[in-house]
Amino acid sequence: MHNFHTESNHLIIYIMFYILYKNMFLNKHKTGVNVSEIVLYLSCPRKVYYASRASSVPSPVTLSYIEHLILKEMGMSYPELLNMYSSKDEEFFKALEALLSRTAAEVMLIYPAELKGIPADIIDEAAGNVLSGLRAVSDNLLSFAYSEAGSGLVLQLGSFKPGSLFHSERLGLSGIPGGTVNMDGIISPVIIKTGQCPENGLWVNDRLHVASLAMLLEESGASAVRSCIATYARQGVIRRMNIRSDDRRQVLNVISKVRKIKEGSMPDRKQSALCDKCVYCDRCDVQPSLASKFF
Ligand code: SF4
Repeated sequence: MHNFHTESNHLIIYIMFYILYKNMFLNKHKTGVNVSEIVLYLSCPRKVYYASRASSVPSPVTLSYIEHLILKEMGMSYPELLNMYSSKDEEFFKALEALLSRTAAEVMLIYPAELKGIPADIIDEAAGNVLSGLRAVSDNLLSFAYSEAGSGLVLQLGSFKPGSLFHSERLGLSGIPGGTVNMDGIISPVIIKTGQCPENGLWVNDRLHVASLAMLLEESGASAVRSCIATYARQGVIRRMNIRSDDRRQVLNVISKVRKIKEGSMPDRKQSALCDKCVYCDRCDVQPSLASKFF
């Protein structure tokens, strides 16, 4: 009995030394992090752990997910509409309606894998839900365009381009912004969010999302990105944000935590309101093992 315990203790010590050795000497390549994983981490660190493993499960397609896709696509066209119709209220609303029906017709073509097998009437129902809030979207976008701060921003939004893939070797980070705009000569990121917008400014998680994209874009540009834009597509609210050093510091911290999780460290479980609807809910009850902390 005594021998058995001694041998198993030796085995545990051997495994831990091997893990430390592996981390220190064999992991020469930085584990890549995607901006979408930063967003996932901010929602729940454990989701990154499950999503980065082969055992991850696809999220079921819900009506609100389809609404999210439709609003995300529409949000990309708000800058163009504002530059075309901002002086004619009813025309603007009609243009938004046309944008909604075009997006509803195209969403299956843009997201064929995500929406595979979804019947057309479910897409119509999601579009109907978006339509019910469209008047408020129209009013908010127009009052933004008429406002002193908004009118200048609308002009800059004229340079909006849908986002493409950016990569930073230095940060070991990749990602695709919702779009980019030329702000005072600097290519700056735009994010398109489809949840509720805060009363003022941006949600903390959105600040960090857009700041991570700004740091990513800096790698390919000559200047530091100072500002960026968040579009809350469901309400038709567009906000500019200045990036602070504190945001950058937090982004670096999150990147290193995401990297650690992807390399095997399971974060503690944090019970929250999100857990009930989480796709990992069934398996997410284990405590992090001592060994997982060493990966
Ligand atoms: S069940 Fe809760 S703690 Fe677990 S991954 Fe989902 S949201 Fe995170």
